Amino acid sequence: MDKMIREAMYWSKEGDAIRCELCPHRCLIKVGKRGLCRSRLNSAGKLFAVNYQKSISISVDPIEKKPLYHYHPGSQILSAGPNSCNLSCFFCQNHPISQEDQPTMNFSFEIIKSIFAEYKNLPHRIALTYTEPFTWYEFIHDLAAEIPDLKIVLITNGFIMDEPLSEILPKIDAMNIDIKSINDEFYKKHCGGRVQPVLNTIKKANEQGVHVEVTNLLIPGLNDSEPEITKLAKTMAEINPEMPLHISAYHPDFKCDIPRTTSQDVMDAVKLAKQHLRWVYSGNIGWGSFTDTICEKCNQTIIHRRPNNVKMLMTDKAEQPVCKICNESVWGRF
Ligand code: SF4
Repeated sequence: MDKMIREAMYWSKEGDAIRCELCPHRCLIKVGKRGLCRSRLNSAGKLFAVNYQKSISISVDPIEKKPLYHYHPGSQILSAGPNSCNLSCFFCQNHPISQEDQPTMNFSFEIIKSIFAEYKNLPHRIALTYTEPFTWYEFIHDLAAEIPDLKIVLITNGFIMDEPLSEILPKIDAMNIDIKSINDEFYKKHCGGRVQPVLNTIKKANEQGVHVEVTNLLIPGLNDSEPEITKLAKTMAEINPEMPLHISAYHPDFKCDIPRTTSQDVMDAVKLAKQHLRWVYSGNIGWGSFTDTICEKCNQTIIHRRPNNVKMLMTDKAEQPVCKICNESVWGRF
């Protein structure tokens, strides 16, 4: 058996076909066929993860690019992702690598170990990103066992069944979960998914002590109404009002030609969400006060973010990081 293919987890037989139980699609996969995410193949009545240890891209990125703003700001992170996704958003901003088969690179555990051995200053963390890391489930599972001290970060759509989620969460240090909309109709119509499993992932990850931030891509006329933004912020606040929310500008891509989100609309949405959440940021509209972290109590900029230049005004002595000026607590891992 090819070392780069591994038997998949979470499936059962239904006659000659296989029911994949990893994500809520629960694909019924016939012999010789792959599931909707293209990462799992029914070969002679067994399900295999065909994207195992294969990455569409390998690079080192600023953590701010994920985006994660309250998780080791200013650090770099080794980043990679599979050539697969289990949603089919018609506006996908990464569709050539998420929705279409592309050549991939060998990303074995030996290669990962050798990268950290060579680049000694690189923090011992890895972001599984660019596409959908839950379609790399077996790779994440085995990576955590192979390199136990490696902190694993997922940039994910959160669309996974509860049981595999519960199994993988103890191996995860941080997540940015992309909620496409708080509206289930949006998920059904535009993404081929449902919102409830995504909310379950946010809730469970937060409960289990994973550092969670959330991203919402604001698409004009589709998910940018005031009631919808308010509902999203309130729902998040019920889970954890400290959880950062990133509201990002969309641009026309894939099958969607709606004109791009204006900077003003993003800033208005940020202000609205801030009525319910403590940390709300803009994305994809440049850098400024809406991407900085401002202390709520003394109004000083405590994390100043610009490309490749992040400055912090916080004390690192306390167990809970605090503002250097007024000692107000700052939620996150620093
Ligand atoms: S993980 Fe892939 S194969 Fe499995 S149910 Fe989801 S889309 Fe289908």
